[in-house]
Formats: sequence, C-alpha cells, structure tokens
Amino acid sequence: MRFSISTKGFNDVIDITNRVSEIVEESGKKEGLCVISCPGSTCAITTIEYESGAIEDLKRILEKLVPMSEEYQHCKKWGDCNGYAHIRSALIKPFLTVPIENGKLLLGTWQQIVFLDFDNRPRQREIFVKIIGK
Ligand code: ZN
Repeated sequence: MRFSISTKGFNDVIDITNRVSEIVEESGKKEGLCVISCPGSTCAITTIEYESGAIEDLKRILEKLVPMSEEYQHCKKWGDCNGYAHIRSALIKPFLTVPIENGKLLLGTWQQIVFLDFDNRPRQREIFVKIIGK
C-alpha cells in the first residue's frame, strides 16, 4: 500500500499515524511488522510526541547538529544546496519498522509516526507501507 502527501519542505513535520494505522487495520494482520518507507534522500520517518513544543525542539536541535547555513560539498558539486537535508536524512533515515500487536500498531499513547521533509522546496512524497504478519 502507498499514499502520497504534499509537504512544504524546509523541515516540515507531518503526523502520518492515522494513515498508517488505517492501512494496518485494513490488512487484517493481527501480529507482525509494519515497515513505513519513503524513497527519497532528503526526508526521514521517525516517532515523536506530536505537539508543538516537541516539534519546535526537534527542529531547533537538528539545526544545531546539522545547520542549514553550513557549507556543504554537495552544493559545490551540483549547485543543489540541500546538503543539510541529505545529512539529516542519512542520520534519521527514511524508513521505520513498528510492531503490530493485536491488529494495531504498537505505539505509546504519546508516540506518533512523523514524516520529516528537509528539502529546500515543497515536495510531493510517496510513502510505502509494507506489512509482514499473520
Ligand atoms: Zn541534493
């Protein structure tokens, strides 16, 4: 299964928990694994408590760790100045595995699945959901 989302780029953080949960419930699988992935090198998928404070904290800390303003070789090579986006994607990774337990994603109450788009322009993204189980 797959679904697409429109992002604003520039570290846009989108809660995709409901979309993924629907796909898991429609699959009828009771026990197994759910792999969520996006084929892209400037995005990531992770979990966080989806509330404005935690999202702002995540953005601020990422800016300290991998600043947008840093000089990246990638920009010199291609004139494509989203080097920070590639590094953030490499560190967090654009895929995530979540166990399925009793037909539902095994997530905490305050744990949401989020898609992060680091690219320096709005993007249309395809997110793939693969389910292994019984
Ligand atoms: Zn690039």
